[in-house]
Amino acid sequence: MYDGIVQDLIDEFGRLPGIGPKSAQRIAFHILQTQNFDVSKLAELLSEVREKVRFCDVCGNITEHERCSICRDPRRDDSIICVVEEPKDVVAIERTRQFRGLYHVLGGAISPIDGIGPDDLSIPALMRRVGENHVQEVIIATDPNLEGEATAAYLSRLLTSIEVPVSRLASGLPVGGDLEFADEVTLGRAFEGRRKVE
Ligand SMILES: [Zn+2]
Repeated sequence: MYDGIVQDLIDEFGRLPGIGPKSAQRIAFHILQTQNFDVSKLAELLSEVREKVRFCDVCGNITEHERCSICRDPRRDDSIICVVEEPKDVVAIERTRQFRGLYHVLGGAISPIDGIGPDDLSIPALMRRVGENHVQEVIIATDPNLEGEATAAYLSRLLTSIEVPVSRLASGLPVGGDLEFADEVTLGRAFEGRRKVE
């Protein structure tokens, strides 16, 4: 334990995802000891992000506008929607340059253990989008883990019941992981080899 605000800073960093006590301490001391570390720039960015960044009204991706840059892009094919769990998955798929349609960000995955059910995700918004537009295909690209698979199964049932063509990414993605950890080539191939859900 350190005195006063130094410990407060370490505790605060330790609350961030993926940062254990040791990393928290390392970051705190890096800031304390590095003379040219621009603290005010970081503080400014943090409050600016909080203030300006929001979720896209259409797809749920992060943006500084009402609609994200992908939804605003007239060159994107609005007849195909790719469903992902988080905004970081949009970034991962965009990196593959394989997909020219639009996205729908659920905001997580169905996980009974964590108390997350279908109603906690933006599934009603997805169904509305699919119903209102001439959607030709919904590609489900949830994470290749238990929660992602459960979410995919739920969505497939829901979408096929209203006769919307649904496809799933091909296997070959690292099982149990996050979509974002798949390399571009593997993710690109999984996209190309996607199969229709009957
Ligand atoms: Zn959007």
